[in-house]
Amino acid sequence: MCAVICPVNALSTSDDEVFKLEFKSALCTGCGLCSQVCPQNSIHILTEIDLNDVLSGTWNTILEIEKIKCQECDQYFVVTDDSALCPSCYKNQEIEDSFFGM
Ligand code: SF4
Repeated sequence: MCAVICPVNALSTSDDEVFKLEFKSALCTGCGLCSQVCPQNSIHILTEIDLNDVLSGTWNTILEIEKIKCQECDQYFVVTDDSALCPSCYKNQEIEDSFFGM
């Protein structure tokens, strides 16, 4: 969500087997939109800047989360509990279980 709403593309995500959130401080205007939309309240706008970081213009990985492959659909997903199913397959399994009374 934060990378989508950033008006200057200072945040970028890659979403393969590892979810990565990258940040380029040289682009950031400090508008705070990313912080406002973060559902986990995980992004905080700092008032101090690292001038070397800004001038280097590099992308810094600020979040990296390993993902596992869903046993049902083979899609990679971020594990939030001990489920081996992605959220979508887990929900489908719940519906099937309730429908068939399992
Ligand atoms: S604070 Fe920086 S990273 Fe966040 S939305 Fe604004 S420009 Fe993008």
